[in-house]
Amino acid sequence: MGFCNSCGRPIVKSDYGTNKDGSLNSDYCKDCFKDGEFTEPDITLNEMIIRKSKEMMEKNPDLHETIATGITTGFLPGLKRWYNEPDYDNI
Ligand SMILES: [Zn+2]
Repeated sequence: MGFCNSCGRPIVKSDYGTNKDGSLNSDYCKDCFKDGEFTEPDITLNEMIIRKSKEMMEKNPDLHETIATGITTGFLPGLKRWYNEPDYDNI
């Protein structure tokens, strides 16, 4: 099992995104990557961090926002999609 290099969620083969030729792309999940393109090409790293932090807090109501954001800011910027993100400015 790996994880999506865009949103960071754990993925198994049935979650893999697809390349333009229909083959599976194990780097990204199908929510992020479809038919060789990102489903949300304009989303920024900061927006993804905020979204994933909110998702974590929805799943864990006791989780404090600073903890959730700390986890996502420590994890997401190292993923392949964001590694060269020029706009990232340590939030
Ligand atoms: Zn994803």
